[in-house]
Amino acid sequence: MPIIVDAHADLAWNMLKYGRDYTRAAAETRRLEVGSQAVDENEDTLLGWPDYQRGQVAIVFSTLFASPFRWKTTANESQVYKTFDQAHRLYRDQLFTYHRLTDSQPDKFRLIRSASDLNLLLDQWRGVNPRSKNPSEDGHPVGLVVLMEGAEGIRELSELEEWHDLGLRVIGPAWVGTRYCGGWREPGPLTEDGRKLLSAMTDFNFILDLSHMDEPAALEALDRYEGPIVATHANCLSLVPGFASNRLFSDRLILEVIERDGVIGVIPYNSYLKAGWSVKKDRREEVTLVDLTNHIDHICQMAGDSLHAGIGSDFDGGFGVQSAPAGIDTIADLQNLVSLLSTRGYSDTDIENILSGNWISRLKRELPSS
Ligand SMILES: [Zn+2]
Repeated sequence: MPIIVDAHADLAWNMLKYGRDYTRAAAETRRLEVGSQAVDENEDTLLGWPDYQRGQVAIVFSTLFASPFRWKTTANESQVYKTFDQAHRLYRDQLFTYHRLTDSQPDKFRLIRSASDLNLLLDQWRGVNPRSKNPSEDGHPVGLVVLMEGAEGIRELSELEEWHDLGLRVIGPAWVGTRYCGGWREPGPLTEDGRKLLSAMTDFNFILDLSHMDEPAALEALDRYEGPIVATHANCLSLVPGFASNRLFSDRLILEVIERDGVIGVIPYNSYLKAGWSVKKDRREEVTLVDLTNHIDHICQMAGDSLHAGIGSDFDGGFGVQSAPAGIDTIADLQNLVSLLSTRGYSDTDIENILSGNWISRLKRELPSS
């Protein structure tokens, strides 16, 4: 079973907003959350440490994410901000949430700040006996790479050094539009602050995440940013005809990411796989992992190789089981991609690249060595 890297999960947001405990199995969390606000707003969880073990998910890009007050969806929402100071506090609290989790449960979760942290973690995972019947009993720590989604937690560029010291490694300037650039549902260009942010990010070799950036802003960033570039969670617009927002990537954008040797993580979210799909009116069975495989294949066909596609599940980031493709009960079921890709002629090496190798090679190259 190949290792999986999931390049996008809002773990801290779920922990702080809904009190989710990701050391538990997804099934256990679901039992405890029956009838709760968490399920009402964010559906049934797909994530938990035992599920990471069953699916051999070794690394998760774990976000710092809060939304501006104008996009809050419920009353009494804790993870929303009105001012940059409030954003800063929320993003900091989420980062310290990861510190507390990895300090208190180092057998289950580890912070990945450097290539040497990464190598140490991978050595542990590679010791796994693939024939072990129950790997969750003798599991391994899941590595967390910290990713800031929506950069408004950064008040001043002089803070970047401290953010880096505290373990932040990936920055996505947008969620909706931000002071730094136009984004999802709020289109617009890279702003002057955004240009300055990119220039300052270069000093620390932060990985730039283009996900959620409006296309003109993303294209300018591709031109301008001298550090590494990826898209942790984005699907292919050309495969979702009629899709009604700027959240997916055009072929032009995909090609430019490939040209910069980036990786694009595909999202197993039904609304991003079938235009107009809605949990309120459509059946889950209308979307399957075959649809997700189409997005992986599209990126590989454009690249002419298997070196630029990955997975960025976004599981629990506003949706759960009810809106994931049929056949997915927890993140462990992403392993079903292996047989689907194999049927399409992908070799074992290709499959390993897509499930984890592409993210791992970029992290090895771009993280500080120690
Ligand atoms: Zn997102």
